[in-house]
Amino acid sequence: MSENTGTLTSHLWSSSDLYRNAVLELQEAAETMKLDPNIASRLQVPKRAMIVSVPIRLDNGSIRVFEGYRVQHNMTLGPGKGGIRFHPEVNLSEVAGLAMLMTFKCSLVGLPLGGAKGGVRVDPNQLSRQEAQALTRRYTTEINMIIGPDKDIPAPDIGTDAQHMAWMMDTYSQEKGFAIPGVVTGKPIEIGGSLGRAESTGRGVVYTIQHAAKHLKDTGKPGPKMDGSTTVAVHGFGKVGAVAALEIHQLGTKVVAISDVHGGLYNKNGLNIPDILSFMGKNRTFVGYPEAEAITNEELLATPVDILIPAAIDGVITAENVGRVKATIIAEGANGPITLPALKQLEERGCFIIPDILCNAGGVIVSYFEWVQGIQNFFWSEREVNAKLAEVMENAFKKVIDVRSHYNCGMKTAALIAGVDRLNRAMLLRGLFP
Ligand code: GLU
Repeated sequence: MSENTGTLTSHLWSSSDLYRNAVLELQEAAETMKLDPNIASRLQVPKRAMIVSVPIRLDNGSIRVFEGYRVQHNMTLGPGKGGIRFHPEVNLSEVAGLAMLMTFKCSLVGLPLGGAKGGVRVDPNQLSRQEAQALTRRYTTEINMIIGPDKDIPAPDIGTDAQHMAWMMDTYSQEKGFAIPGVVTGKPIEIGGSLGRAESTGRGVVYTIQHAAKHLKDTGKPGPKMDGSTTVAVHGFGKVGAVAALEIHQLGTKVVAISDVHGGLYNKNGLNIPDILSFMGKNRTFVGYPEAEAITNEELLATPVDILIPAAIDGVITAENVGRVKATIIAEGANGPITLPALKQLEERGCFIIPDILCNAGGVIVSYFEWVQGIQNFFWSEREVNAKLAEVMENAFKKVIDVRSHYNCGMKTAALIAGVDRLNRAMLLRGLFP
């Protein structure tokens, strides 16, 4: 048999931009760190994937069948871990790419977990609560043979939240005959969730921004002071972006722009984030908030700010719009928000990128804490959770900085190398079966 050249990725996986981007970034990291080519080619494809049809009865009595996926990319370090995405454009390739990012994220921050991801191709905004529940329960049943507290542990992602996790936990537990809270994380507190989990991703984003600002200062580079002179724009004012905006506002910086799918808000003197959140509590949207100008998502990305937090979805900063992006720090709150060509331009320009697998790792770190608390049936205070989160994020940040100076590479490549290195050693130790 001829040798594996290690560069070909099958068409089945590679149809999405997100997956191709992830593979190209992996290849760059592999080349930089001179990774064993056998390991490099193995990591380009997932271990296992499941495609399921999810039929549900709609409120109007008709039946509709949705397509669902669960991809387990690598489980060398422990059970698979990763969210469930409900989005109209989700597909097998994208879920595979996101599962790959989870592998490197869990490895980088030192968790005993592998990488996985799931999704259902559906617009969650079109579903009633009853339909969302039916979809979540049937999807859980269809994938129940590959998930479990020791096998693969889902969590929320775009379009899903603690309520979806409660339905997943209940469905899985009903089928087994007893309560199994450890099958998912990101659950409501009442059924075994962790304090601080809901805020953890946004909080972690802000921790990494603080470390980045300090790092720039310590190394004599121009960077934000993290006071009233510092301006921030947040793209995606949802589960991650809204928390990050609030936390960074509370530090005393000026959040001048926010946006979501409905549009954006701008105020050069700084937006009053707590006031916007209470406006949203009453009106369900920030559109129409009086103390700001309305802006578009594209205008937000081009706003002259010190820090930009793309916290919505992948592929937002592209070769087409990167020329208009002016921020000096970009914190990737979402998974894959900067395309590879855009990343190269930003790096050449000296922009400090906080890579997604580091920046948004707070979510999976506190998911891990939730899983550990559940196994022990011993729950921690929110202060304890936050302190442990801060410690893990600080160590991961330092690790990426060390790798970057060792290889003299970009932050994105450094984060991947740090993740791949730990995994590589584990894979070599475990060896190839049979
Ligand atoms: N969906 C989140 C992520 O992309 C969290 C995953 C988890 O908590 O397992 O990291």
